[in-house]
Amino acid sequence: MLDYIIVGFGLSGLSFSEQLLKNNKSFVVISETDKSSSVVAGGMYNPVILKRFTSPWNAIPQLEYAIPFYQEIENRLNTHINNPLPVLRVFNTIEEQNNWLIASDKPNLAPFLSTIFKKNDNEFILANNDFGVVEKAGRIQVAKLLSAYKLELLKNDSYRNEVFDYDALKIADDFISYKGLKAQHIVFCEGFGLKSNPYFNYLPLNGTKGEVLIIKAESLKLNAIVKSGVFIIPIEEENRYLVGATYHWTDKTWKTTDEAKSELISKLNTVLSCDYEVVGQLAGIRPTVKDRRPLVGRHPEYKNMYVLNGLGTRGVMVAPTVSDQLLDYIEYKTVLDTEIDIQRFADEYIAS
Ligand SMILES: Cc1cc2nc3c(=O)[nH]c(=O)nc-3n(C[C@H](O)[C@H](O)[C@H](O)COP(=O)(O)OP(=O)(O)OC[C@H]3O[C@@H](n4cnc5c(N)ncnc54)[C@H](O)[C@@H]3O)c2cc1C
Repeated sequence: MLDYIIVGFGLSGLSFSEQLLKNNKSFVVISETDKSSSVVAGGMYNPVILKRFTSPWNAIPQLEYAIPFYQEIENRLNTHINNPLPVLRVFNTIEEQNNWLIASDKPNLAPFLSTIFKKNDNEFILANNDFGVVEKAGRIQVAKLLSAYKLELLKNDSYRNEVFDYDALKIADDFISYKGLKAQHIVFCEGFGLKSNPYFNYLPLNGTKGEVLIIKAESLKLNAIVKSGVFIIPIEEENRYLVGATYHWTDKTWKTTDEAKSELISKLNTVLSCDYEVVGQLAGIRPTVKDRRPLVGRHPEYKNMYVLNGLGTRGVMVAPTVSDQLLDYIEYKTVLDTEIDIQRFADEYIAS
């Protein structure tokens, strides 16, 4: 008898696996990898919303928990995944500079918004009004993290690379069974795949498609993330950058589009003046929820079935703390924050 089966291995499945490892619980992960928002993600952790200079939900505790969480994995797997990098916000107007300074006085933003503006010393970035610097930001190499972690699970015979077949799941009072596996609990971490899950598809997961480009720009030599109409994020391959991302609310396909490519290129051209070549394009669907909070908790009827989803646009920062809360809820009977508990959609379940 296993303690857990986890379905889905993006940032949510990985984070929950890590909580189980830390608590000496046995588990098997079942996941396909074709439709993963985590693999597409820019991987940024950025504790400031840079449109209006506001603070994302719970950013400070999330970041304080997330960085050591990833560092611990880095150490155990002996691999490098965390790249701390400042974010340089291009100011379009002097008014924006003033708004930045006002925001930098607020307690939840003060640790991150530097009050000293940075001069633009990169001749290929078009920014006449200096940069605002966001500190304590950076990038987790999510695709690399997932493959290194998966390799470890495969070595321990704890990973099955397959699509989960809901018809093969048998639910008893005290355990569940699935194709020869028996476990006390099952946790669904399927990202937008939740839409096909007959047990949890009543939850209001909207999904927001996003696309990014990978560009090669030999002369750019950036060692910070630049934010203008798009983010330009240095990645590990020499002279390559991620440029993104788009937001599309109606297209729910995982295919890249020419429309997104044109949108990203035209935004990029307003901030970049050097030659570059587009060498890649990726598309994914962010697991966004109508009230912008994660979907965490126990199924209304089946007490050994759980969900960990709704990480939205900021899975890197959100996944570690919410996976911790879910584990404590299941194992140590703690109470989930009402903001993330799927209990808030009990009416939707009754109506489904
Ligand atoms: C373009 C883009 C850029 C982004 N940039 C950032 C960023 O910079 N920083 C940030 O924090 N977040 C970013 N995000 C958001 C981030 O990707 C998500 O918050 C997070 O990755 C969601 O993780 P998840 O594990 O819930 O879902 P996913 O990563 O989608 O993982 C779900 C996994 O479950 C598998 N699965 C689903 N159903 C089944 C099934 N029935 N059987 C087997 N396997 C199944 C899927 O194949 C997938 O592998 C971005 C997203 C996009 C699309």
